[in-house]
Amino acid sequence: MRVRNRPNAAEMLAAHPEIVISEPSKWRGHWQELFGNDHPIHIEIGMGKGQFITGMAKAHPEINYIGIEMQVSVVSIALDKVLAEPLPNLRLLHVDGSALTDYFAESEIDQIYLNFSDPWPKKKHEKRRLTYHTFLAVDEQILRPNGEIHFKTDNQGLFEYSLASFSQYGMCLKKVWLDLHQSDYEGNIMTEYEEKFSSKGQRIYRVEAQFPDKTKK
Ligand code: SAH
Repeated sequence: MRVRNRPNAAEMLAAHPEIVISEPSKWRGHWQELFGNDHPIHIEIGMGKGQFITGMAKAHPEINYIGIEMQVSVVSIALDKVLAEPLPNLRLLHVDGSALTDYFAESEIDQIYLNFSDPWPKKKHEKRRLTYHTFLAVDEQILRPNGEIHFKTDNQGLFEYSLASFSQYGMCLKKVWLDLHQSDYEGNIMTEYEEKFSSKGQRIYRVEAQFPDKTKK
């Protein structure tokens, strides 16, 4: 996601440690204590400006949400949204989503959202796609047994690649939408990119993919 560089973005995040958790590895295995409840935890990797994760947190107060984004200026824009409308069940992390086992213990996370992830269309960049098998292996570790990834994109190439990648990993493709906005799916919360691409007439694809029960491997 391209945004204008905010020179004071890092200071903005540091000024709100109650929302942007500065040393997430300290909470590894203890996130429910941070939230002060035993509700399930859902994370979004690459939350961008945070429209989806704030919308979800508002709509589902019984779930704890953590939005993850590696670009500091982008996190600061998401932070603006949370400051404008505080949400007790939402925290933000400014970290790289490839190191999630540093921040979350085995099976600590209930569900993962990927929305409009960078497509990296060149074959030589396949390893950077968030649905490449090395990322799935990290996701599987931090997710509960039978945990799920819910993925939306407008990019047909990345979508088809991801369906194949999930399936080759041994995941079950529980539900697949080839045109989400023309379907009867209820409760969809649009991301920034989803609004932008769908207003240009692009179709939105969605899949719910489930890991096998790792305790039975
Ligand atoms: N989900 C948002 C943004 C999509 S753009 C939306 O749908 O509008 C993809 C975002 O993922 C970018 O902001 C990029 O910085 C972030 N991203 C890509 N790889 C990441 C990683 N490994 N860890 C954290 N964020 C990542």
